[in-house]
Amino acid sequence: FRLHSAGIAGIREQTLVAVKPDGVQRQLVGEIIQRFEKRGFQLVGLKLVQPSRDVLSEHYHDLQKKPFYSALIQYMSSGPIVVMVWEGCDVVSVSRMMVGDTNPAAARPGTVRGDLCVHISRNAIHASDSVAVAKKEISLWFHGSELVEWESCTRKNNYNV
Ligand code: GDP
Ligand code: MG
Repeated sequence: FRLHSAGIAGIREQTLVAVKPDGVQRQLVGEIIQRFEKRGFQLVGLKLVQPSRDVLSEHYHDLQKKPFYSALIQYMSSGPIVVMVWEGCDVVSVSRMMVGDTNPAAARPGTVRGDLCVHISRNAIHASDSVAVAKKEISLWFHGSELVEWESCTRKNNYNV
């Protein structure tokens, strides 16, 4: 059986999720991983890194002109982050729903930010916002050899394929 065989290609969509420095400091790593596992997504990459400003400026290049940009880079480089690649059906859009509004004050209860955060400058988690951006972010943060293709025994239950 090959997961990338035609017909079930959709379940191999991938996204980049990161627990930001405040989330690591607040010991939310396990809680956040558990939400993605319980939802039924499959972990294919995971590491703890002290991000460099170079990688962060690439990661947030779209926000360079924003007034909060330098504070954002300062915050994101203030300590280790946990970067992950999660795989599954519609994982990009579903992850964004699970993460909640950028501003935790507007994030719905039940979302990571709506349950675990209070302020936009410390919102604990990142998730790619489109499939195209996810591809770029995954290749920015991970070498291909760091991603693991493996067959999950829950696949049949989660997808009926
Ligand atoms: P996200 O995709 O929901 O993370 O939001 P964006 O891509 O718009 O912004 C990236 C990150 O920049 C957010 O997660 C926040 O950490 C930060 N950020 C966005 N807007 C603001 C803001 O108005 N003030 C501050 N201090 N940080 C912000
Ligand atoms: Mg974003």
